[in-house]
Parts: sequence; C-alpha cells; structure tokens
Amino acid sequence: MRLLAKLLRAFIRRGTLRVIDYKLGRAPDRKRALQLPIYGVAAEQALDGHSGRRWTLSRAGYVAFKHKGAFADIGQNLSAAVADGQERLIAAVDGIERGEFPPRPEDPFLCTWCPYPTVCRKDYVGDE
Ligand code: SF4
Repeated sequence: MRLLAKLLRAFIRRGTLRVIDYKLGRAPDRKRALQLPIYGVAAEQALDGHSGRRWTLSRAGYVAFKHKGAFADIGQNLSAAVADGQERLIAAVDGIERGEFPPRPEDPFLCTWCPYPTVCRKDYVGDE
C-alpha cells in the first residue's frame, strides 16, 4: 500500500527517531488517531539504510497546548500503539475497498464548522 503524507517534525539521532505533531488544542483520542503511528512506521521505512543503519521509532506524541503537561505520547507501550495503528489503518483501507466508509466524526460538535453537511451521509449511517 502506498500512502502520501507530510510529517510535521521528526528528530533523528543515533539510530532512533521521534515523531512529533503539534496541536493548538488537545491531543486526539489515542484509540482513534492514526496519524502518528503511521508516520512512525513510514519514517522508519523511509530512513532504513540512511547512514548505513536501521532507524527505530523511540517516541511519538503530540505537543498539545491544552493537554496537561503539554506532551501526550501515543501510548505507554510504543510498539503496541504502532501495531494497533497499523491494524486500524488496514481495517479502514479494507473497508474503503469494500465501499464501506461511514462518516464517524470523533466529536459530532466538529460538524458545526464542516463545509460539507449538505453532502454528508452522517445522518443516514445505520440506515444503509
Ligand atoms: S458533517 Fe460529515 S463530513 Fe463534515 S465533519 Fe461531520 S461527519 Fe465529517
């Protein structure tokens, strides 16, 4: 599978890398967010062989200005969080390939600002 993404910030040092994203508000829900686990895997793959070595994700998280402590790891167990993110991404892609991609906003309040409510199927999910 080929994905296109733009990583905001990664720090690399002595064979390890840290992937960081910045949020003005709170960090996204770890159970739903795919971005950083997938960026971590993609960065490991993209860097593989750089400087003649293997690069390993050592930390991933959000600098979220409304999060207590300002930094939110993607999970206490990094490899489990990355594996979980990969599984959820594969499940999402499988669903899309089957034509199943129901709108599921993390917070329905976000729909208030969405420019696409007239074409969105969120009110019909479950009827299909
Ligand atoms: S209105 Fe639909 S497309 Fe817009 S945020 Fe809500 S669920 Fe997503």
